[in-house]
Order: sequence, then structure tokens, then C-alpha cells
Amino acid sequence: MFDYLIVGAGLAGSTLAERLASEKNAKVLVVDRRSHVAGNAYDCYDDSGVLVHRYGAHLFHTNDREVYLYLSQFTDWHHYIHRVLSWVDGQQLPFPINLDTLNQLYGLSLTEETMKLFLDERAEAQEIKNSENVIVGQVGKELYEKFFANYTRKQWGLSAAELEPEVCARIPVRFNRDSRYFTDVYQGMPKQGYSRMIERMLQHPNIKLMLQTDFTEIRHLIPYKQLIYTGPIDEYFNYAYGRLPYRSLRFEFETLAQESFQPACVVNYPNEFDFTRILEMKHATGQKCEVTTIVREYPVAEGEPYYPVPAKKNRELYQRYAEEAAKMDKVYFVGRLAQYRYLNMDQVVREALDLFARLRSQDITRRI
Ligand code: FAD
Ligand code: UDP
Repeated sequence: MFDYLIVGAGLAGSTLAERLASEKNAKVLVVDRRSHVAGNAYDCYDDSGVLVHRYGAHLFHTNDREVYLYLSQFTDWHHYIHRVLSWVDGQQLPFPINLDTLNQLYGLSLTEETMKLFLDERAEAQEIKNSENVIVGQVGKELYEKFFANYTRKQWGLSAAELEPEVCARIPVRFNRDSRYFTDVYQGMPKQGYSRMIERMLQHPNIKLMLQTDFTEIRHLIPYKQLIYTGPIDEYFNYAYGRLPYRSLRFEFETLAQESFQPACVVNYPNEFDFTRILEMKHATGQKCEVTTIVREYPVAEGEPYYPVPAKKNRELYQRYAEEAAKMDKVYFVGRLAQYRYLNMDQVVREALDLFARLRSQDITRRI
């Protein structure tokens, strides 16, 4: 009899498995239907020896000290500050939009003060109801069209006006020359990769791992006391209220006989190309080798569920599943798919640590 069955060996499931096994001495079974651990953060060496991210570039960044210290028990960090360029009007420009972006794009010599005046003349004051409002309200229509409109349409299959504000609100506008993608205090890459870090989290005598195993195959075969589910919440309930939409990606990998392909880890293509961005992970991992592997990301409607789609009707549908979930005894839903939220890795670990704290306090109450 296992104390916990955990569905999913991504960051959510692995954090809970580690905490429950180490701190509560619980016997834990982790199952994942994929052939590897780490969920979407999975990385591996490709045939030419380049460390690649199988499911899109994963850059770790957080202001949550506890999350950073927690993960640091299982990895050292390669210091890396993420920077992104955007291919606009035939130039690779710093992105998010900052002072240098505008000066290079328009051949200007704006200062921090005159950039504010420049954008004040263009920004259109509006109530923030959707992602288009977020950007047009800050930089106006023209810059929105150049950097956001088409990228967002490709990425989501919806216009920014159809998406909740939170999507484009992830991207700031900077009135200085700060070209960092993220400004978080802690940023970096696990020195030997995410898969290695997560393997270490799961290396505990109380944790058993079964890969290539779907929850549905074993749910009635293996006895357990409590269930932690990190898969898609609508799937758990057999799509009783209908399917929650996800956006998927097709990754096109290409290895090139050259040391480097582009000047940054990520170059965005907000315009005429079918793909949204090209990734070259060597910039982030710091790996030195004679060849490089690049990845073109093509957003698609069908496929692995990568991105919950933040739109009002989806949130409402999710709410119906969440209400069913809340009624369940000894079944807990956590993670990007189970909570149907566009969560970064650090937020997923935070959610998992918070659930662990709740499980522990329940246990203490029961014993009292
Ligand atoms: P997942 O990683 O999805 O793990 C869930 C696991 O459950 C999967 O392995 C799945 O196979 C398994 N599973 C599901 N259902 C079943 C079932 N029925 N039976 C058995 N197993 C099942 N975050 C960042 O912080 N920085 C980034 O740069 C970043 N980039 C990203 C880029 C892309 C393209 C994507 C899609 C996400 C990105 N993220 C990034 C988000 C990050 O991937 C997630 O926050 C995190 O990996 C989610 O962890 P999780 O455990 O909740 O889910
Ligand atoms: N976005 C955009 N143009 C860009 C980059 C991002 O319009 O060049 C929008 C797009 O809608 C995207 C959102 O901003 O989905 C969030 O971008 P982020 O880079 O955080 O996306 P992720 O890395 O999570 O795919």
C-alpha cells in the first residue's frame, strides 16, 4: 500500500514526491506516461551531443527565495541572464521593448526622458480588459502591430483582444537600456540540466517511479491512500463538461555544422514567418561544442497540451472542474495542467510546496 500515488513526474509531482518521502517518510509511487521524468522541462543530449530542451526553452527565474533554495539542494546553477531579440523590419532588436529597441528601430537618439514623451504621444489610454489593451495602452498601435499582434495570433490562434490581460502583461516595457528578459533576483540554468535535477529529487528509497505508465492503467490495480494528480484536470473527469482548450507546439530541430547560429538564445519572429521563435540553447546552457542545434517553434492546435489558453470562457469551464475537484476527498490537483494556469516553473514548485504544507498540517491535526 502506497501512502501517495502521484500522477506526473514533472516539477509539481517531483517536488511533492520528494517532500512527502523526505519529510513525512511517506511511501510514494510516481507514474508518468512519458518515457522520461521532468515533464515539459525535460532536457537531453541530442545525437550530435548538444544539450537540448525537448519541449521548448526553459529558463529558470524567480524572486521566491524558498523555491530557489529548495531546488538548489538538487543542482548547482549555471549563471545565465536571459536576453531575447525580436526580428522586426529586417533587424534583430532587443525585446521586451526598451530604449535601445526604439532607437534602433526608428534611428533615433531618445533618452529615458524623451522615450516617455515619445510613448506618451502614441499610447492610447484604455480600460484593461484584454491583452491588446495592455500593450496598446503602453506603446500604441504601431508598436503593438510590429511586436505583438501577429506573434500573439500565431502563438494562440486568437487575437490579443480575445486573450486575458495576463498573457501580454508578462512582457514589460522598459524606459531604460535594461535588456534582460526577466528581472528576477534568481536566474540561471541547472548546471547538468533539468532532467538531472529532477532525477535527483526522485532519488529516495521511499519513492518508486514507473515511466510509460498511464494513471488509467494502474488506478484500480495499485492500492494507495491519497492521490496527487498533475495531469489535465478535464481528462481526470473524463471531459464531463467538455474539453479545456490547450495550445500546442511543433518543434523542428536542426543541427548545424557551426558553433553558433544566432546572437541570443531566443529570437522572436512576430511577422511573416509561420514559426514564432528560433531557440539556440547553447547560449543558455553555456555548452561549448563545434556544432549547434536550433529549434523552430510552430504553434499548433492539436498535440501535447502545453499552454492552457487564458480566455474568459475557458476559465469558467475550468471553474466547473475545480468545483468537482474541491469535493473530492484525498485527491489533490496541482501543476500547470491540473490547475489550468499559465504557471512558470518556480510558481509550480511554489504551488507544490504549499500543497505539501497543507498536507502536513492536516496530518498534524489528525494526530491531535
Ligand atoms: P508538466 O511538466 O506538464 O508535467 C506533467 C506530467 O504529467 C507530464 O510529464 C505528463 O506526461 C504527466 N501526465 C499527465 N497525465 C498523465 C496520466 N494520465 N498518466 C501519467 N502521467 C500523466 N517555465 C519557466 O519558468 N520558464 C520558462 O522558460 C518556461 N518555458 C516554457 C516553454 C514552453 C514551450 C512550455 C510549454 C512551458 C514553459 N514553462 C516555462 C512552463 C513549465 O514548463 C511549467 O511551469 C512546468 O514544467 C510545469 O510542471 P508540471 O509538473 O505542472 O507539468
Ligand atoms: N508576445 C508577443 N511577441 C513576442 C513575445 C511575446 O506578442 O515577441 C506575447 C505572446 O502573446 C506570448 C506572450 O506575449 O504568448 C508571453 O510571452 P512569453 O515570452 O512569456 O511566452 P512563453 O515563453 O511563455 O511562451
